[in-house]
Amino acid sequence: MRVSELIDPITKDWDVGKLTRCFMERDVGLIRKIPVAPTFTDSWCWRDDTNGQYQVRHGYKLMVSVQDSGHPVSFAWKDLWRLKIPPNILNFVWRCIHGVLPTMVTLASRRVDVDTMCHLCKQHPETLRHLFLDCIHVQALWDSAPLMQIASDDDFVDCFSKWLAMADGQIVKSCIAACWIIWKHSNALVWNSKVWLLSSLKHDITHTLIAWEEGLEHAVPPLSAMTTVDSHLCEEQGTVCIFVDASVFHDSGDGFFRAIIKDNAGAYLAAKNGPLRCIGDAFLGEAMTVKEALSWAKERGDNKVIIYSDCQIVCRWFSGMTRDLS
Ligand SMILES: [Zn+2]
Repeated sequence: MRVSELIDPITKDWDVGKLTRCFMERDVGLIRKIPVAPTFTDSWCWRDDTNGQYQVRHGYKLMVSVQDSGHPVSFAWKDLWRLKIPPNILNFVWRCIHGVLPTMVTLASRRVDVDTMCHLCKQHPETLRHLFLDCIHVQALWDSAPLMQIASDDDFVDCFSKWLAMADGQIVKSCIAACWIIWKHSNALVWNSKVWLLSSLKHDITHTLIAWEEGLEHAVPPLSAMTTVDSHLCEEQGTVCIFVDASVFHDSGDGFFRAIIKDNAGAYLAAKNGPLRCIGDAFLGEAMTVKEALSWAKERGDNKVIIYSDCQIVCRWFSGMTRDLS
């Protein structure tokens, strides 16, 4: 893809839709800050120099760095591009492979003054391999994956290369989805103090994979949107809002629910989670989660309740006028 393809031919400005599909959120913001000058004549420039001037030492430095790292030239890019996953996720993988994903260790290596310790376990430096594979707080996500036969001294890129070489596309996609969701939740924890819930990560991985299969690009609603109170619906005194979420695992048939109660001003009141017996059926899991939430509200003595779910079918049936008495 060329840069010119990212510019709207009518408005002569960045095509935000295309940028969002191709790049990570932070990069979209940075790209949009670059002024577009469609009448400016293109010219060649050397990317590693701020003035665009090539010097022999630049070329030498680049060749030595590629030879030292080894990864970018030896990586099986063709296998990666063949995977049917959204462009922004491919961009995420590309950044992992090139070692430019801003983990704490990477940030420190670029002279950013940060604590390099993993924010989850606080016992090991936050490298890509630790965050995605080794941290005790993510290992449960990989329990069912047959991909843990990786050498202890492999770095993340070595592991990823082996996955691509050994595994079928579906398993590689599962691994990428797991890394992507770990990354998103880790950022939410570090920058927005969101709670780290394994059940929530499993739920998001499952939904992400389903969305990729269906050709959707945004599988999981942003974490912040999951528990935002709609003030118009919640104005009545004594009304509580219950945010529900179900995680269902098709392979084992297990399911879990989580529910958070907030008052009509959006203040946190209580949270609950637990197992579901939903025989691996996602819709049954979502419906049972609503039942669990209503039972919980009844126990608590909450009489005016609004249920929030990210499952469109549940929302449609509960808020619709149709009565199904079958
Ligand atoms: Zn850790």
